[in-house]
Amino acid sequence: MTAFPKPGPKQDTSALRQLDGNPDERLFGVAAVRFNDMHRAAAADGITLTVISAWRSNARQAQLYKRLGGYNSKSNPQGAAKPGTSNHERGKAIDIDRHTDPRVVPWLRANAGTFGFVNDVASEPWHWTYSGTSMDVAVPVAVGWELVRRGSTGAFVRLWQGMLYGLGYGNAVGRVDGVFGAKTTLATEAFQGARGLKVDGIVGPVTLGEAFTL
Ligand SMILES: [Zn+2]
Repeated sequence: MTAFPKPGPKQDTSALRQLDGNPDERLFGVAAVRFNDMHRAAAADGITLTVISAWRSNARQAQLYKRLGGYNSKSNPQGAAKPGTSNHERGKAIDIDRHTDPRVVPWLRANAGTFGFVNDVASEPWHWTYSGTSMDVAVPVAVGWELVRRGSTGAFVRLWQGMLYGLGYGNAVGRVDGVFGAKTTLATEAFQGARGLKVDGIVGPVTLGEAFTL
């Protein structure tokens, strides 16, 4: 399983997660987690993020494509992406209601990047796509992280166990002893599952980056 399964009629939708405040809308794994973080931050600023469209099935995208025609920035800016190519089908794009509250788009322009969302279609100020944050890769590289997994021992394991405590998986980890055993494996897998990552118990750049980008 990958965080964002390939679009198509046979797409694996098991990692779709509901969006806070928008119970009918879903995104895949980490994009949903990040949206929910963003939704909470917006609410704290008195802004409600209402999602008009998030994940779409391949069939739904085909319907839209038929009805609206193919997207073209000049000749058909209201068009839809060809089925199989939309970030909505990839479960990482959202369309946000910008008419109810004119503060919504300016808020997103100022803050969405913090949560990994970018406005990747300039003519559609309502369309935001999760594309991760630079920290997802930069932090593990900066600390010279060595991949750790079951059987690993030493300073990086101790660091990872400490991070699991910080992430709320302390009870599962048990003792911070620098030994990557069964408990640390289970805690790591629980964290990976909760964030929509590949559940393999291996702490490489993606898992570590995810831990850094709370
Ligand atoms: Zn869109």
